[in-house]
Amino acid sequence: MMHRRHFIRASLGGLAATAASAWLPAWAQNAPDLGTPALAEPGFRRVRLGGMEVIALLDGVTRRPLGEEFVANAPLTEVKALLASQGLSTDHIDVPYTPFLVVAGHRRILMDTGLGDWGGPTTGRLLANLRAAGFGPDDIDTVLVSHYHGDHINGLRNRAGEYVFRKAKVMAPAAEHAWWMDDARAAQAPAGRMKGLFENARRTFGSMPAGMLQLFEPGAELLPGIRAVQAHGHTPGMSMFEVGSEGQTFIFLADLTNIPSLFARNPDWAVTFDMDAEAARRTRRAAFERIVSRQALVGGFHFPFPAVGRMAALGTGYRFDPLPV
Ligand SMILES: [Zn+2]
Repeated sequence: MMHRRHFIRASLGGLAATAASAWLPAWAQNAPDLGTPALAEPGFRRVRLGGMEVIALLDGVTRRPLGEEFVANAPLTEVKALLASQGLSTDHIDVPYTPFLVVAGHRRILMDTGLGDWGGPTTGRLLANLRAAGFGPDDIDTVLVSHYHGDHINGLRNRAGEYVFRKAKVMAPAAEHAWWMDDARAAQAPAGRMKGLFENARRTFGSMPAGMLQLFEPGAELLPGIRAVQAHGHTPGMSMFEVGSEGQTFIFLADLTNIPSLFARNPDWAVTFDMDAEAARRTRRAAFERIVSRQALVGGFHFPFPAVGRMAALGTGYRFDPLPV
């Protein structure tokens, strides 16, 4: 208890936290007075996609207090009203983390990694849920990285520095890599969250052996049937991934939106983590339009479990309809 209270106070004060938590903002530690978010059990959901299989793998959920800052460009009263209209709490936001596994023939392709052992007590379940779905970390031959925020990359290496998916090639967007690995930019990053993000990205990728990391450009075919789709805005080089098999399409949205109850319903709202809010807004609008017109199956990293389903137009925005658990 002492430890937790001390930790929260240090985070809120913006003091330098340990390397382990440097990238985590204060909210990422579960606030003790808001209760604990429920984690779906089992924490995986299989979906057939033509001749492939797509499996949502829950890494965890973080509960954060809802404050003015979460939606950068809308009044809190409007944000709360929209949550209330969907029967959701107006005191806190539950942000889930859901990497996806694609099983394509003999290939096992993981999309993003969750927090690994670097997050709070209700995260870090990816490996357990991967095992529950019938796979071990050595079964993964490719890890596709959407962007370099900690909740998407920290599962690549544990606190001992070991690579968790030892047999996997890691594929990441070239523009994203260039941005976070730039020495001058890292040196100029403001203290606090941004500095932590740089340190975190560089800890993860800085010493990665040659041959393990492969960078890609937007639109590239990464593997047979899997293509990178440019989605910059949330970060400078974020990529989505489009998977096609036998005429069916699955799109991994990464952080095209944070929780859909706010940012799909209002695609013009900006979550506090969008680095270029206007670019993110345009990317989001264009992507949703295309997804709905194509009736694609989508997976959203921060979508409520099972985090896979379909989008439909609703009012001036969109609604996420998850598949049944
Ligand atoms: Zn994220």
